[in-house]
Amino acid sequence: MAGEQAHTKSVGEIRRHQLDLLKALGEDTPDNVVSFDTLETQHYCEQKAVFERAERPTEENRPERLLRAQEQHNQLVEASANTDEEYDVDDVWDDIEAGDVSLLYPPLVHEMVGMTLYARPTYLRFVDSHPTQLTLVRGVTKEGYLDQLFPNERFLLWCYGTLLDRIGFDVSDLSIRYLKYPQAKFDVVELSRAQMLVAVEDGDDISIQLDENATIHPNIRRHPLEYERDPDRGKQLRDYVSFWRDGGDPTGASHWKQCASCRFRPECDLVLAEGEQRR
Ligand code: SF4
Repeated sequence: MAGEQAHTKSVGEIRRHQLDLLKALGEDTPDNVVSFDTLETQHYCEQKAVFERAERPTEENRPERLLRAQEQHNQLVEASANTDEEYDVDDVWDDIEAGDVSLLYPPLVHEMVGMTLYARPTYLRFVDSHPTQLTLVRGVTKEGYLDQLFPNERFLLWCYGTLLDRIGFDVSDLSIRYLKYPQAKFDVVELSRAQMLVAVEDGDDISIQLDENATIHPNIRRHPLEYERDPDRGKQLRDYVSFWRDGGDPTGASHWKQCASCRFRPECDLVLAEGEQRR
């Protein structure tokens, strides 16, 4: 069941508040801002989130798989974008107020426990100025990851839903989903086509017809999730954001397999040895 309340604010009010927050964000110190990507990592390891937050990513310190993901992401954005460089945040809100629009990486902001949450979902579709569909897209390094939606990914997806809910939109028709594709079989044309088809369709029952024989691309998996208000997840989100406000000692991953492939392993004093679990 989706959120039960209609807009708690008018779209004009939401727009004004969002633009004010974005303006303040430009003047804010990064220490007061929590990005949604950080929350996802924090879900299984605060220590790793702390390391990632402190790091200024460069081509030298990013692992190859993350550089590849970034490169693929850039190609998808380029192939999917149907707007020119002049399309700014005012245009985004003009289109939302006008009614029906599909947006690529629209910036969304929300204040919580004295911090600013910042998010840019891959696709966001509005119908009659209501958000109806939010899609996140991810390339994965192993085939086995295609069919799984991990707890941190579920949490992140829910966070996007609650963000739209909390900033005042009517989320009663909102559907949220992940699309996953294998990085090794990356094909920019096929993926951007599938993404755009998903972005213009409504509802969860979407069929991606790429050719006569297949209604869904064999290399792309959809993971729809129902958004509903969840006090436990809401508390979890507040606690996560409070961590960045208050500081304190981060907790580490709970299972040794998460440490096994962690790039911060050599410098981490919470690293788990093979077979270890943290309770
Ligand atoms: S080595 Fe383990 S505990 Fe340390 S940052 Fe990486 S995942 Fe977290």
